[in-house]
Amino acid sequence: MDLKITKSNQLKEKPAQDKLGFGKIFTDHMFIMDYETGIGWHDPRIVPFGPFTVSPATSVFHYAQAIFEGLKAYKNPEGEIVLFRADENFKRMNRSAKRMCIPEFDGEFVLNSLKELIKIDKDWVPSKEGTSLYIRPAIIATDEYVGIKASDHYRFFIIMCPVGAYYSAGFDPVKIWVTKDYVRAVPGGVGEAKTAGNYAASLYASEEASKKGYNQVLWLDGIEKKYIEEVGSMNIFFVIDGEIVTPKLTGSILPGITRNSVIAMAKKEGYKVREERIAIDDIINAHKNGKLDEVFGSGTAAVISPVGEIAYGDEKIVVGEGKTGKISAKFFDLLTDVQYGKKPDPFNWMIKVC
Ligand SMILES: *Cc1c(COP(=O)(O)O)cnc(C)c1O
Repeated sequence: MDLKITKSNQLKEKPAQDKLGFGKIFTDHMFIMDYETGIGWHDPRIVPFGPFTVSPATSVFHYAQAIFEGLKAYKNPEGEIVLFRADENFKRMNRSAKRMCIPEFDGEFVLNSLKELIKIDKDWVPSKEGTSLYIRPAIIATDEYVGIKASDHYRFFIIMCPVGAYYSAGFDPVKIWVTKDYVRAVPGGVGEAKTAGNYAASLYASEEASKKGYNQVLWLDGIEKKYIEEVGSMNIFFVIDGEIVTPKLTGSILPGITRNSVIAMAKKEGYKVREERIAIDDIINAHKNGKLDEVFGSGTAAVISPVGEIAYGDEKIVVGEGKTGKISAKFFDLLTDVQYGKKPDPFNWMIKVC
């Protein structure tokens, strides 16, 4: 397949690097590729960023056959642009595709196309401390048909936004609320796919958490509502008596690339890391016994997000006096130093773009 490139002749003005925020400003170009049963993925192209004109009957609007990814590119001290583990994102996207009956694609071809897209929009990659270029690949079902079936047409697209430093005013631990009423995913469901509907299904509980003064929801397993799964758009880690513990991937948890990176980094640093089922009651007991040292979330957006408080029914756990713990801060530094090219990359995670 040949990647066709059409450059925009109306480049937008770039925003100030201290006013980037998250997710509302887009670069000048985007990648598109289409699929049709019998033809396969075809017509890959880079075109000026702009709207799609589609029929209201377009399948994705009705039945949410849609998947996405989220990853970042960074500018290193040499001025090079690098991607963090982008190959893993496209592998995961193909696993999500399979689960959602979306045709798989050539991950290497898409990664190379993404590199071309970034090269064209390279002036959009911010350089200020903590900033990055957030990349959003997605695939949507585009049959113009309101019957229910896997679509025969799909559109793959990649859009990009320069994003500000997540912690511009220093670490701010989040407060999380454990919901007893709602679940995110169930065994046999689509919890481990990065699919749109998982987020639509999570909004109600998120709003309830927000009304109670909490930033995010901590989800328990869908059957016994006893075992910890994950938080909003992050995986979760506990530091108990000096050891690092995280829920094992059981099929209903999103296999985070940051999660995988924290585990690899922790083992390299000599920590004991356990992946196992963790009952919420065990966390409450660990806290009562003074053994719950730290709690943090992991995900592409924040990298590491310290947790200062967990509410579960009548129990309120304040972790580390609500302040950021040493180990959480250490993993934030270890990962971001590799991402921003400030320290050597022992796992060969970084992929050079230009
Ligand atoms: C994307 C996502 C994560 C984090 O994955 P990363 O690859 O680390 O960004 C965690 N949970 C959910 C539900 C997600 O969608």
